[in-house]
Amino acid sequence: MKKCVKSALSILLALTLVFGTAAIAFAEKAECDCGDAPVVFVEGIGTTLYLKDKNGEEKTAFPMSTDIILTSLAKFIPTVLISTTFGGWNSFSKSLALFAGELFSEVDCDENGDSVLPVYAEEPDEPLVSEHTDGTNIYSFRYDWRLDPYETAKKLDKYIDEIIKATGHSKVVLSAYSEGGEITLAYLDAYGSSKLEKYITQCSAFQGLTLIGEVFTNNVGVDGKVLADFLVNIVGNTGAGDGVVKLLDFLRYTGIYAGVAKLLDTVLDNCFADIYDVIARDMFACMPGIFNFVPASYFDKAIDMLFGNDKKTYSKLIERVTRYHKAQVNAKSIIEKAHKNGVAIALVSNYDCYPMPLTGDIIYQSDMLIDSANSSGGAAFAPLGETFADGYKQANKDEHNHLSPDGKVDASTCMFPEYTWFVAGYNHWNTCDEFIHWLYWYDGQPTVRTNKNYPQFMKGNAAALTVAPQK
Ligand SMILES: [Zn+2]
Ligand SMILES: [Zn+2]
Repeated sequence: MKKCVKSALSILLALTLVFGTAAIAFAEKAECDCGDAPVVFVEGIGTTLYLKDKNGEEKTAFPMSTDIILTSLAKFIPTVLISTTFGGWNSFSKSLALFAGELFSEVDCDENGDSVLPVYAEEPDEPLVSEHTDGTNIYSFRYDWRLDPYETAKKLDKYIDEIIKATGHSKVVLSAYSEGGEITLAYLDAYGSSKLEKYITQCSAFQGLTLIGEVFTNNVGVDGKVLADFLVNIVGNTGAGDGVVKLLDFLRYTGIYAGVAKLLDTVLDNCFADIYDVIARDMFACMPGIFNFVPASYFDKAIDMLFGNDKKTYSKLIERVTRYHKAQVNAKSIIEKAHKNGVAIALVSNYDCYPMPLTGDIIYQSDMLIDSANSSGGAAFAPLGETFADGYKQANKDEHNHLSPDGKVDASTCMFPEYTWFVAGYNHWNTCDEFIHWLYWYDGQPTVRTNKNYPQFMKGNAAALTVAPQK
């Protein structure tokens, strides 16, 4: 070997050693004294799912690729034309079920609640040590949202260990959004809270969604008034011009909403019963992550209606969702146990939005998707669009006032009234980072009286993503 090559190689080797050792030193950072625990943010539903195609190339299984949408449509359109011309509703429903089946074929789960194909989710954020400069780092944990939350919790536990090791902190702030509330409740149930400094939830699905309870018990419908209120409400909350909102509201008198609702209702009435088995049961109820959105009060009925005829086939799935159902029922004591262990807790619930208009005339305070009563762990609300009657007294008396200035919320019935915040007018996807970051890095347990900028009841500005105390 020539001398210059040799020395070049030794320089390279030396460099590798220097940087290699540095990398090892970083990978196991001894201890960080920055004082701000790293945040593990458990995302909501919708993480991209991948699959390897025949040639071993990675392709997207969810969201559905244009290819599969077009293939499904190409199969769907001719059958739907033929069926609606000659076959009536029954054939139409069958085509629709086939279409949906085709569309979701790559993310299908079997009767045990496992993925049929070897699908995998986008990786969580890499626990990069060099980025942990001032403790204010947020690491997103992504997961396959279809699967058993206890399987996901196992991965989350490992991920928390990695973050702890990489950042040199002994504990993390666990922050959950939407379905993340389900995953983290399963996590607390199975792994306890010894690695947590704080537990924070936003629009948490830990107590389920009325919408899913209704769909899984075969009760869907569209009501004209609910549809109109929903549209006026969402457009109003986006900060659209007053004129547009007024126009939408005025259109009620034309009967347009009633007409659209009647049309949709006819379609649902004629089809949903036919497609219930295929879409509700075979497609979505076999995804434990989705099934667990069924609120406790719907659970037995949903199990009976979906699997009643064939409980044996679905026994593993039933066992899995029953485990979560128990955690859902015991959520208060599970979270309380963490709190008694020294974990600071905070729940954030958005409200004053109309729910998706798919459950007939059943309406409830929501963030558009999740019932606010559920995401807040049991707040009592005035009927949607109304305020409490004059003289209403808060249900549970303590030394504080837990009634909202807008007259719509009684937080005294919450699991944790001192640690539950409400944002009026924010939908499921609105969040005020400044407020959430304050919760993350506040030293100790914040209460609804700690910071006058962030009292228990706030009004959200959905356009600017800011919050202000309710007056
Ligand atoms: Zn640190
Ligand atoms: Zn109180």
